[in-house]
Amino acid sequence: MIVTQSQTNFICPITQLEMKKPVKNKVCGHTYEEEAIVRMIESKHRRRKKACCPKIGCSHTDVKMSDLVQDEALRRAIESHNKKRNRHSE
Ligand SMILES: [Zn+2]
Repeated sequence: MIVTQSQTNFICPITQLEMKKPVKNKVCGHTYEEEAIVRMIESKHRRRKKACCPKIGCSHTDVKMSDLVQDEALRRAIESHNKKRNRHSE
């Protein structure tokens, strides 16, 4: 399987799956699957810990829910990428 740079960006660093609802961290600029990052932040905060950015190599160690914004552009890019792929397999 050939993984191009653009396809790699569709993958959530937490789930390792293609994102359906990507959210962007305003602070470090990384994107994650919304459900996965929210769950991660909540479970860390329950244990009174800070949530580190799950992206490998990122030094951001205090990811907050308020720093996450919906990444509409990326969501559309993933959708159109999937549409193309589906058409191709028909
Ligand atoms: Zn990050």
